Amino acid sequence: MPGFEVFGAEERKQVNDVLESGILMRYGFDAMRNGHWKAKEFEEAFAERMQVNHCQLVSSGTSALTVALASAGIGAGDEVIMPTFTFVASFESIMMLGAVPVLVDIDDTLTLDPAAVEAAITPRTRCIMPVHMCGSMADLKALKNICEKYNLLLLEDACQAIGGTFEGKPLGSYGDLGCFSFDFVKTITCGEGGAVISNFEHYITNADQYQDHGHDHDGNDRGAETHPHLGYNFRISELNAAVGVAQLGKIDTILDIQKKHYTIMRNAISGVEGVTFRRVPETGVENYSFLNFFLPDGETAQKAHKALLEAGVDGSFYWFTNNWHYINGWEHLRELKSMGSLPAEIKEQMQDLNTTDFSQSDHWMSRTISCLVKVGWSEEEVQKRAASMKEALSSI
Ligand SMILES: *Cc1c(COP(=O)(O)O)cnc(C)c1O
Repeated sequence: MPGFEVFGAEERKQVNDVLESGILMRYGFDAMRNGHWKAKEFEEAFAERMQVNHCQLVSSGTSALTVALASAGIGAGDEVIMPTFTFVASFESIMMLGAVPVLVDIDDTLTLDPAAVEAAITPRTRCIMPVHMCGSMADLKALKNICEKYNLLLLEDACQAIGGTFEGKPLGSYGDLGCFSFDFVKTITCGEGGAVISNFEHYITNADQYQDHGHDHDGNDRGAETHPHLGYNFRISELNAAVGVAQLGKIDTILDIQKKHYTIMRNAISGVEGVTFRRVPETGVENYSFLNFFLPDGETAQKAHKALLEAGVDGSFYWFTNNWHYINGWEHLRELKSMGSLPAEIKEQMQDLNTTDFSQSDHWMSRTISCLVKVGWSEEEVQKRAASMKEALSSI
């Protein structure tokens, strides 16, 4: 996920446009900003690239998730179904609103298992939040069917799979709402930033207000605007948005290179005994930011991971013991170690994560290795890396 690898003259030019006027804020100061509205420009271009009607930029991917949930009216005590394999932002964004994260098993797609999702639905469930981890997607069709059956919101976390598609639609555009991160290690970056997209105007109107203290953004006198609802500050700065304008122009080149490098790596190891690949749901196209594969069992996977690192294959991840991406590493969540008191709804309704059975997730995660795909590698470097991967995996 290498947006930072391609930072260059285009990004500097966009940022300079903003620096020349000194108007670092996305709203107001119309006469002083030399016609530059970088956040607005990014929003319009991003909505078009994602084939949706609306986009709201915010300060991070985590705030995108919070703003999306808030915009759909989710609040205290509402249950949001999320996977056991994701980034900590998933439960952070839910708990921020006093809503309750319900953790559910993944399957061989490394994302939400639709059967486990359906089994977890209660009268308080309001939303299903699949997370398209490591470049590939959840079975969105199955999840959408469940959402329609139970009248739930489908919110896609596409932070790690920007540019991938399902049924020909860009990931993030298939559900009711989609969220993206432009933090420094994502496929395209703003330094820090995020986006909410939707085809439903009322969600994005709500998002627009919620991310800016409730401002209705009516007219051009900020002080005179009204505040139909309580809001917060999740605004992006004009400087960060400017970086994003340039990065968005590079997204298709990045995706093409990722696909090329991924394919070389995949072909190299596909013949190795015991190596199988993560399932991509039918009609799905990955964004190729990671190559994800399984070993026959956890012990072999740990040996394989060690062998890869020893062979110099950096950027290979064994998530099962990772502090940030799998429930095994989230002791702070399991023990609800909050600095202050948590909302009563969370304390009362939260599942006991120390005793809930996640053996199905363990089964898949303990066998999984993911190798990061970078764009800066030369053809020779990719070939060499692919050969090292093959050799390391064959050796165990
Ligand atoms: C990066 C990421 C986020 C959060 O994005 P930030 O911009 O870092 O807040 C959320 N979900 C997933 C899956 C991510 O990878």
